Amino acid sequence: MRIDKLLSNLGIGTRSEIKKMIKQKQIKINGELVKNGKDQLDPDSAQVTINDQPVAIQLTKYLMLNKPQNVITATEDASQRTVLDLISATDSVKGLAPVGRLDKDTTGLLLLTNDGQLAHRLLAPQKHVAKTYQATIDGIVNEDTVSRFKTGIQLKDGTHCKPATLKIISTVEKNNQSEVEITITEGKYHQIKRMFAVCGMHVAALKRVTMGPLKLDSSLKPGQYRPLSESEIQALL
Ligand code: URA
Repeated sequence: MRIDKLLSNLGIGTRSEIKKMIKQKQIKINGELVKNGKDQLDPDSAQVTINDQPVAIQLTKYLMLNKPQNVITATEDASQRTVLDLISATDSVKGLAPVGRLDKDTTGLLLLTNDGQLAHRLLAPQKHVAKTYQATIDGIVNEDTVSRFKTGIQLKDGTHCKPATLKIISTVEKNNQSEVEITITEGKYHQIKRMFAVCGMHVAALKRVTMGPLKLDSSLKPGQYRPLSESEIQALL
């Protein structure tokens, strides 16, 4: 990335103000004087100083986490481990927060970003961003359950859910369990667990695998994360 672009993105000054600072030999990258605004640097690793004072490089971060169990989707908590505790100090930029919420026992795809506008858009109910989950259900899911989900489940408290897609992957009669995939376009509290509860079934395991165009990277082990690729970011924006 160009040094003048980075510093102007960080709000240090306009491109012409930065040009002036370069001329006045105020800016260094890794201890070397910057001679030109076009000089390149890696924002993830470079040390930038202005008048020998370090500059905190905080660009927009987009991280994909494979959330493990027993970690809460919050930015801080007095007693429990949060998803932010899994993020290294160098990636923990100001304002980094999870987009949406997964239950403590739910695993899988969780996006973290400091791009508040994107988070807002992805969570806006009117955007109907589709989220797909793999679930293990205690009970035998059949075509009747599929059509109830398709029509739209009414939760026990009377709340109506939008139609959801339920796919039966397998059922094991002797274990009384089913493997399913479910896609919902809203994010009500404990929504999937409550939808199955209406059908008399319990969700034994729940893992989110997609959110809009974003797919969980299968190489990420629970607790691991990586930055989104440029094409993943573009698909979300
Ligand atoms: N639905 C749930 O019940 N829990 C989650 O974590 C996500 C969707």
